[in-house]
Amino acid sequence: MIKENLEIVESNIRKACEKAGRERSEVTLIAVSKTKPVEALREAMDCGIRVFGENKVQEMKDKNAVITEDLDWHMIGHLQANKVKYLPGMACMIHSVDNIKLAQEIEKQFAKNDMKIDVLIEVNMAGEDTKFGLAPQEVVTFVKEISALPHLNIRGLMTIAPYTEDPESNRQYFRGLRELKDEINGMNILPVPMDTLSMGMTGDYQIAIEEGATFVRVGTGIFGERDYSLKS
Ligand SMILES: *Cc1c(COP(=O)(O)O)cnc(C)c1O
Repeated sequence: MIKENLEIVESNIRKACEKAGRERSEVTLIAVSKTKPVEALREAMDCGIRVFGENKVQEMKDKNAVITEDLDWHMIGHLQANKVKYLPGMACMIHSVDNIKLAQEIEKQFAKNDMKIDVLIEVNMAGEDTKFGLAPQEVVTFVKEISALPHLNIRGLMTIAPYTEDPESNRQYFRGLRELKDEINGMNILPVPMDTLSMGMTGDYQIAIEEGATFVRVGTGIFGERDYSLKS
């Protein structure tokens, strides 16, 4: 089933790229494997997938300990400062930076390991109470504040759009995130302009690609529905 699902997702990504006049190589598919067993990840790996997204540090650690192949692990979930110490040498990108304390802890832990880490700033584009992330109007100030942290490469922005049956209704948020990135790049705050937009999930990744996503995070569309009752 995972193989067939991946074929469908890949075909949809290609169509969206074509529609938007973008190259397929501009978009990276992150297979969101949270709650899924290692066997499911192996099935995806057999289809050539090497980029995985997890939203819990412990789960990423557990899977990383069992799978010896060289994978790109993306931390996509809300991150507690006391868990950051496990990420150096494991995660290749953190998508969910949304407060100074967290940014400072990331700086501290990666400096300790003499490593740099690619980070994205999470933005709550729709202003949903239930979601983490900065309000769009807070982002410029935040970028200025964390731009001085030498072990963080601020690569771009991430958003989780509202759950909806109508993906078209999320286009405004994806477009808004791209415009925010362009605005910040125009201000020359960062030594290197941001080049990354992590946006689009199973329900809306085609729209996100049309609006400039460079990472799409797809879980259900690859691995099927998640069963949280199996977890602690
Ligand atoms: C779970 C999750 C996804 C994947 O969601 P699906 O709807 O299953 O594709 C993407 N991004 C984040 C941050 C997630 O937590």
